[in-house]
Amino acid sequence: MTKKILRSMFSMAFVILVASFLILLGALYSYFTNLQADRLRSEMNLAAYSVSEDGISYLENLQSTDFRLTWIGADGSVLYDTHFNAEEMENHSQREEIQSAFATGEGESSRYSSTLTEKNLYYAKLLEDGTVLRISTSYAAVPMLVLGLLPPFVLVFGFALVLAAILSKRLSNRIVAPLNDLNFDEPLENNTYDELSPMLVHMEQQRRQITQQLSELKKQQNEFAAVTKDMKEGLVLLNEQERILSINAAAMSFLEIKDAHAGEDFLVIERNREIDQLLQKALQNGSSEGQISKHGSIFQLNASRIMADDKTSGVVLLIFDVTEKVFAERNRREFTANVSHELKTPLHAIMGSAELLESGLVKTEDIPRFVGQIRTEADRLLSLIEDIIRLSQLDEKRDLPMETLRLDEIAKKELDALSTSAAAHQVTLSLEAKEITLYSSQQLLHEIISNLCENAIKYNHAGGKVTVALEKTDALAMITVTDTGIGIPLEDQARVFERFYRVDKSHSKETDGTGLGLSIVKHAVEYLGGTIHLTSTVGKGSQIRVTLPLNKK
Ligand code: ADP
Repeated sequence: MTKKILRSMFSMAFVILVASFLILLGALYSYFTNLQADRLRSEMNLAAYSVSEDGISYLENLQSTDFRLTWIGADGSVLYDTHFNAEEMENHSQREEIQSAFATGEGESSRYSSTLTEKNLYYAKLLEDGTVLRISTSYAAVPMLVLGLLPPFVLVFGFALVLAAILSKRLSNRIVAPLNDLNFDEPLENNTYDELSPMLVHMEQQRRQITQQLSELKKQQNEFAAVTKDMKEGLVLLNEQERILSINAAAMSFLEIKDAHAGEDFLVIERNREIDQLLQKALQNGSSEGQISKHGSIFQLNASRIMADDKTSGVVLLIFDVTEKVFAERNRREFTANVSHELKTPLHAIMGSAELLESGLVKTEDIPRFVGQIRTEADRLLSLIEDIIRLSQLDEKRDLPMETLRLDEIAKKELDALSTSAAAHQVTLSLEAKEITLYSSQQLLHEIISNLCENAIKYNHAGGKVTVALEKTDALAMITVTDTGIGIPLEDQARVFERFYRVDKSHSKETDGTGLGLSIVKHAVEYLGGTIHLTSTVGKGSQIRVTLPLNKK
């Protein structure tokens, strides 16, 4: 703006200067022309007098070259000319100034002479003898005079031009200074040109509007951030170029993104071809979904296109952690398959024995053995079904009755119940317990102790030992079942808690195992909010420690 003002001011000064210069030049030109004409007249008067007195001799003796004198006879013929040969010159009676002199006594004209290429000023005067004397001079003398004045003029013009430039600069700076100092944060506080008032008032209105809109936008953004922050689902908002508009904490944690800022390219942060394809599909078709595995977890991704004014403005990506769901579904499928298989085995045995009995092919003395087999397999089937029912109850996480219980008393009762089995396996059962009261589930405590003790007896050697130790701290009760049995190989230790998992299938069959005991224990402990820990050495024995809260809320 300063430059523009400066340029216009300087141009104006330049135009004024040039105009003044031209006007001055014109004035000088006319002044010198008049001066020339006056001089011509006075020279003429002098020459007319002299010619009247001395005749042609005056003209012949005239030395001056400044003026040209022509003496014309009454018939218009040239009698004498100071610059040309009179005899060669044509009749002058038709010349304007001559005609006027013959008519009025005086004549004046200016024209390009036929003999000279320059413009001349003519002045003619009728003498008393009827002849006419004409004096003439060239106009070229006037511009020469004016040109002579040019150098000082140019000097003055240059000086004026420099002065105009300096003044224009100063003035434009002074005009612009208040504009540069305008306070746009508080437009009405400005003390500047009155002409700017409407604009400043308008600016103030706009400023208020923008501030209000900004704070509203900020409020909405905060609300959005607050809502999405605690969402369990991951939420990513992207524009049509897949740049981040918003990403919540859950999405960052799911995708293990440490740092993400608005405006960043999502695919630079999360280099995953599947996600890219999913987003592209959503941008083209409106929506898309898929599952990805990442860092041992499985995520369900749902992407939907966002439209604004019939144009794609972005895409919203929702991320759900479905790991548990997928694994639960897988477990359920495996469990169903295992259950069918496990149920079939005793049933086939029962069917086989029953068919043989029915066919009458079994000898009378063998009948009790077949009936006994049917009974054993039926028992096995029953305990399998009972275990399955218990597990599915625990799976459903149904509310179980909770009460204040004496752990030592429950353990004693369980051991008493198992004493026959222990004796049959030639295993010594012992309890090391003090009085422990806890708020828990009778049924689950029974499952935990009986299953652990049954295993410790079953997988023991004749003459082996099983010790149940009960301890407590301020908040916890500990049940430790130690045996001197066969032990569990290290590679199987993590898997023995899985459903239907058995270390040695053939041996387990002998021991009437269902493969569900430790799975039930694990679920019961989890239900009560406790932990379970197994240590075992093959050939030496195993120890399983269960820690339970004294007061399960
Ligand atoms: P089961 O009904 O076969 O005993 P469990 O789930 O109780 O099923 O145990 C799973 C497997 O873990 C058993 O088949 C057995 O091989 C092993 N096991 C469990 N407890 C012991 C133990 N105290 N000593 C040795 N092996 C054990």
